[in-house]
Amino acid sequence: MSAEPCVLIVEDNPRNLKLVRDVLNHVGYRTLEACTAEDGLEIARVEHPGLILMDVQLPGMDGVEALGRLRAEPGTAGIRVVAVTALAMKEDRERFLAAGFDGYLEKPIDVRELPRQVAALLPGDDRP
Ligand code: MN
Repeated sequence: MSAEPCVLIVEDNPRNLKLVRDVLNHVGYRTLEACTAEDGLEIARVEHPGLILMDVQLPGMDGVEALGRLRAEPGTAGIRVVAVTALAMKEDRERFLAAGFDGYLEKPIDVRELPRQVAALLPGDDRP
């Protein structure tokens, strides 16, 4: 496994995906990308990212179901997964945490805050 922290971004909106990727790459994170939950699960199984930023609203399987599948497999159960969604009501946040997400990021993404948010969520971040 690489010492370089790796973040898997699962996001169906190309602009949001590019924004998050560019910000994280700029501050030194390696990133992986998926536009669907199905692809995200496959990448997670193979690459074991340190963190998954999981868009909740996705075509086909949504982020909550994808989280359930990650947790159900021993190989991916321990990966940190953060819900990313524009739904910002308090009850939504509680629902996502109850579903087993390790955290919650609101859209629109705050590009100045994102690196710090990700650093706080990554286990054992050793980024210089
Ligand atoms: Mn979406």
